[in-house]
Amino acid sequence: TELFSAHRSCTTCPYCGVGCGVAATRETTPDNQGGEEDVIRIQGDDQHPANKGKLCVKGSSLADTLGNHGRLLKPQLHGEECEWDTALNFAATKLRETIDAHGPDSVAFYLSGQLLTEDYYVANKLMKGYVGTANVDTNSRLCMSSAVAAYKRSLGADAVPCNYEDLDEAELVVLIGSNAAWTHPILFQRMQASKAKLVVVDPRGSATSEMADLHLAISPGSDAALFNGLLHYLTEFGALDQAFIDNHTENFTDALYAAAEWTPEKVADHCSVELEQLLEFYELFRNTEKAISFYSQGVNQSSTGTDKNNTIINCHLATGRIGKPGCGPFSITGQPNAMGGREVGGLANMLAAHMDFTEENIDRVGRFWNASNMAQGPGLKAVELFNAVESGQIKAVWIMATNPAVSMPDARRVANALKNCPTVIVSDCVGDTDTARCADLLLPATTWGEKTGTVTNSERRVSRQKGFLPKPGEARHDWEIICDVAKRLGFSEAFDFQSPADIFREHAALSGFENNREQARRAFDISALANISDHEYDFFTPVQWPVNADNPQGTARLFSDGDFYTPNGRARFVAVQPQSPKQETRDEYPLVLNSGRLRDQWHTMTRTGRARQLLDHSEAPELHVHPQEAEKFGIQDEQLVRVESEKGQFFGRARVTPSQKPGQLFAPIHWSDSLAHNATVSALAIPYTDPFSGQPELKQVAVNMEPL
Ligand code: SF4
Repeated sequence: TELFSAHRSCTTCPYCGVGCGVAATRETTPDNQGGEEDVIRIQGDDQHPANKGKLCVKGSSLADTLGNHGRLLKPQLHGEECEWDTALNFAATKLRETIDAHGPDSVAFYLSGQLLTEDYYVANKLMKGYVGTANVDTNSRLCMSSAVAAYKRSLGADAVPCNYEDLDEAELVVLIGSNAAWTHPILFQRMQASKAKLVVVDPRGSATSEMADLHLAISPGSDAALFNGLLHYLTEFGALDQAFIDNHTENFTDALYAAAEWTPEKVADHCSVELEQLLEFYELFRNTEKAISFYSQGVNQSSTGTDKNNTIINCHLATGRIGKPGCGPFSITGQPNAMGGREVGGLANMLAAHMDFTEENIDRVGRFWNASNMAQGPGLKAVELFNAVESGQIKAVWIMATNPAVSMPDARRVANALKNCPTVIVSDCVGDTDTARCADLLLPATTWGEKTGTVTNSERRVSRQKGFLPKPGEARHDWEIICDVAKRLGFSEAFDFQSPADIFREHAALSGFENNREQARRAFDISALANISDHEYDFFTPVQWPVNADNPQGTARLFSDGDFYTPNGRARFVAVQPQSPKQETRDEYPLVLNSGRLRDQWHTMTRTGRARQLLDHSEAPELHVHPQEAEKFGIQDEQLVRVESEKGQFFGRARVTPSQKPGQLFAPIHWSDSLAHNATVSALAIPYTDPFSGQPELKQVAVNMEPL
C-alpha cells in the first residue's frame, strides 16, 4: 500500500502497572474513494526499559480499542447536551454554593490511577491548597494503599526498593496473591526467562501457579501467619543477617516475639498446606541469597493487608535481602499510574510529594503553592468518602476516570448514594458507565492516545504518555477541565498552566522543596527535572526516582546504603498478630468468594471490551467452582449460578474447575450491572477496611450459591 506519511510516537500502555513502552505509528494511506485514511500500528517500544519491545495481548490490541464508538463527545447536564461554558459554570457554581453553605469538607474528588500525574497534581492542588479540604481520594485506595502504609511503617516512606532488573537477577521469586501470568504478563515472562525458582502463594490455582516450581495454596487470608512462620524458621536455623539487623533496623525483638508461636506445624495447620510443602518453601527462602517477594492485590485487598505486607518485609529485613541486586520486597501496582497519583498526594491522607499532614508540611506546601486555604488534616478515604456521600455529609462529588459504582465494596449502595447526592460531576471518556448514570453533569475527557503527560510504573519509573490522535468531538484534557473550574472558583493565578509540561515542572520543583535530612528527608524527589524544557519533556527518557542533585540520572535501587527514610535512618520491623478475614463463613454463607482479573480484560472493559479478540477469552460473567462443590450444590459446568452475600447477589456462568479449592469460589471483576444482569461482583463485599490503609477487603467474601 502506498504510504503518504507515517508518524511514530513513543508512549506508555494504559493498562497494568508494568508500564510498558508503546510505539504508536500513525500511517496515512490512500482510501478506496481517492482520499486518505489513518491507520494506527502498535508495537512495543524496544527502547523502553520496562518491556524492551514486548507487549502482552492487551497492549498489542490497543489499536483495536480506538475510535469514537461509545465515547462521550459533548458535555451533558441532566442528560441534555450543553456547551462547555454552561458545564464549567455549573460545576464551579455548585462547588462554590456547597462550600459556602456547608464548608469545604462537604465536597470531594474521587480520582483514578488512569489519570496522568499532571491531572492528579492540579486536582490535589485545587482541593488541598485552595478549597481547603483533603477529601481527595483515588481508586488506588482499592489497589495498593496497604502496600503504601506498610512501606511507610517499615521503610519510612512509600518507596518501592526494587526494579525490574532485580527480577532478572533473582534466584527465587515468591509471588504472593498474584496471578502475574495474566495480570502483569511482561514481568512474568521476565521471571520465566530468568533462572529464578518460582514459588506461588495463592489460595487458587492459576496460570501463574501452573508454571511455578512450588504452589502453596494457603487458606484465604492466612498470609501473615505464613510469613511470621518464615521469620521464626529463619531465626531457628540461624539464617539471619545479624549485622544488618543491628546496624540498619530496629524493633526486631518485638517482631520475633510475635512470630515465635508460628512453628512450621502450626503454620501448616493454620494455612491448610502440607508441612512438607511449607518446609520446602522455607528452605528455599533460607538457602537462596537472591530472593524477591512479589506481591499484589491478593495481599493488599484485605482488612489486614498492611500487616500482611509487613510480615513479608520483615523477612527481607531479617536476612538483609533489601537494597541488593536480585533482592527485596516488591509490590506491583495494578494500574498504569497508581504510583504517580501517590506522588502528588492522590491519597486523602497525604498532602503532596509524599508529605504527611504535619504542621511543618502544611506550612511548607502552603508557602510553595502560595495557597490561600490549605487543608489542615487528612480527608476521607474511599470507603469513608462514599459513606459520607450516603449520609449527606458530602453534598458535591467530582469523580474522574473511574467507576466506583462498580469497583467499590457494596457497590450498589455506592450507586444509590450517588443517585441521592445533590451534585455529582463525572468526567470520563465514555458516557454510559454505571457511575456516569448517576451524574448530574457529564464532562467528556480525552483518553489514551489523545492525552499527554507522565505516569510512574511499579519500579518508580516515570515515563511519558503521548497523544498521537486529535481530541474527539468536544472532549478536553482532565488537567484543562480542572484548571478551568479552578479559575471559575477564583483561583486564576495558581491554575494558569499552559501545558502538561508547565504542571510537571511545578510538581518536580515541589518534590525537592526543602527536602533534606534536617527537614525529614522525603523519598519522592524529582527536583532535577524541575527546569526541563518543553523539548526535553517531549522527548523524556524514562527515569526512576529519586532524580535529584545527588542522583541526576535517577536511582535504580533504593537502600543500597542501608539508610532508610525513617527519622533515624533505621528500617522498622513490625510485630504482627495474624488475624482472620473479617467476612467469616457461616451456615448461611458457607463459601469464600475471591475475585480478580482475567487475562484479556481490564477493569470494567470500557476499552478492552471494544476489541473482539479480547472478548474471545471470556464473553460473560463467570464463576469458578471446584467439582466437589459443584456436585454438592447441584451445579453443572456452564450453568447459570446465583451467588448471594449479606450485601447482594451476582449471577455468573459456572466454570467447574479443580483450580479452585473446595469451599472457595472465584469471579472476575470486569462485568457490571450495566453490562449484564447482576454482574457486579464487588456488590457482594462488605466494606470492611484495613485500619492503617483504609483499603477494603474485596478478596474474601462469605457467600452462598444456587443453580438457576
Ligand atoms: Fe500493558 Fe501491562 Fe501488558 Fe505491558 S504487561 S502491555 S503494561 S497490560
